[in-house]
Amino acid sequence: MLISSRRLLVHHPIPGWPAILTSKLGGEADALAKAVGAIVEGLTFYDLANVAVAEMRVKVAFEELGRQKKTQLAKIEAVAGTQAKQVAVLPGIYPMDAVSKVECYVCGYAAETKAMPSQCPSCGAARYAFEKEIALSKAWEIAAQTDRSIAILLRASAAEVSPSTRTILEELAREDEGEASQADRQLAELRP
Ligand SMILES: [Zn+2]
Repeated sequence: MLISSRRLLVHHPIPGWPAILTSKLGGEADALAKAVGAIVEGLTFYDLANVAVAEMRVKVAFEELGRQKKTQLAKIEAVAGTQAKQVAVLPGIYPMDAVSKVECYVCGYAAETKAMPSQCPSCGAARYAFEKEIALSKAWEIAAQTDRSIAILLRASAAEVSPSTRTILEELAREDEGEASQADRQLAELRP
């Protein structure tokens, strides 16, 4: 009896400590690391996709989607702390391979998207030889699918955290569900 009450004390959050510190005693840190990871992964994906694509409408769509994730990251960092990114667990929801590297279509030279050359160092082709063609419909399809997956992940994480953090994660999950529906509508408009 004494042992179990001691154990309860150890796991009890210490008043006045930042949530990220106290949470290391329980499952809250893991849940937050997953939630932060999902949003960081989205932000990373949309930033790379924005650089990799050529068509302006697609670029703009990725830019807007990236901005939404950036806003969400700020909201979650308000409770998890800005260092939370360093322990973030990337869930592998986004098709990162499709945007992390670019290839010269003339000679096949490969480069990291974040260091896309202005001229191919191998054959001299201009920058556009590296730009990817991703259809606007594909961009909205990715957004709809990934936002739904993130919403599910955020709701699962919300169940593991303290009430104040739970409120934020549930709010973010609702935003992602809304963004997924918005992406569905964009997609429906593109279809004949
Ligand atoms: Zn080349």
